[in-house]
Amino acid sequence: MRIVLVGAPGSGKGTQAQLLVKAFGVPQISTGDLLREAVAKGTDLGFRAKTAMDSGKLVDDATVLGMIRERIGRPDAAKGFILDGFPRNIAQAEALEKMLEDLATPLDSVVLLNLDLGILFKRLTGRRICQDCGQVFNVYSAAPGAAAHSKECGDTHRLIQRPDDKEEVIGKRLEVYEAQTKPLIKYYEAAGLLRIVDADADVDTVFKRVERAVFKR
Ligand SMILES: [Zn+2]
Repeated sequence: MRIVLVGAPGSGKGTQAQLLVKAFGVPQISTGDLLREAVAKGTDLGFRAKTAMDSGKLVDDATVLGMIRERIGRPDAAKGFILDGFPRNIAQAEALEKMLEDLATPLDSVVLLNLDLGILFKRLTGRRICQDCGQVFNVYSAAPGAAAHSKECGDTHRLIQRPDDKEEVIGKRLEVYEAQTKPLIKYYEAAGLLRIVDADADVDTVFKRVERAVFKR
């Protein structure tokens, strides 16, 4: 199973990726994690990445692609991988395609967790965190169930909104996501790889849809 997982902030992408990892025994490959790991290990690619980041530049595609190539060559990726956070543009998508062709391991599908922007906006801006126990709530969701009870707080939490969850910040993030993702989605649609999953449901329902999408030919 070789897939790219695409989804906006708030789409539940992280959760779905974890479920796929558990169900299929393939690793989730996040370019952010790879960069941190390469820098920590001091590999050649890590050194190149660190040099770029230290001077405030983006790490170039060739470096990132080299890391992905090395990562999918490890034994735990023999059965496949879930790529997360890459590609972000057409040039990267083309470079990825070429590399995977080289390795004779082309992508099976690109799964898009699709959610209305209005819903994403509510999910993200409605987020509140208890400053005492760290539990996460959402002001737009139904009343919190038993899970809301915590040792420190009992049933009474002190909720705050993190600066990152403010409306302007979220609006900007979603705009950037839209602008970045639209061309990519078209690209993969044209390649016949795109699978659109309606992500407006509970975690288990969405996962069933993801599974079906992954295996749809
Ligand atoms: Zn609390």
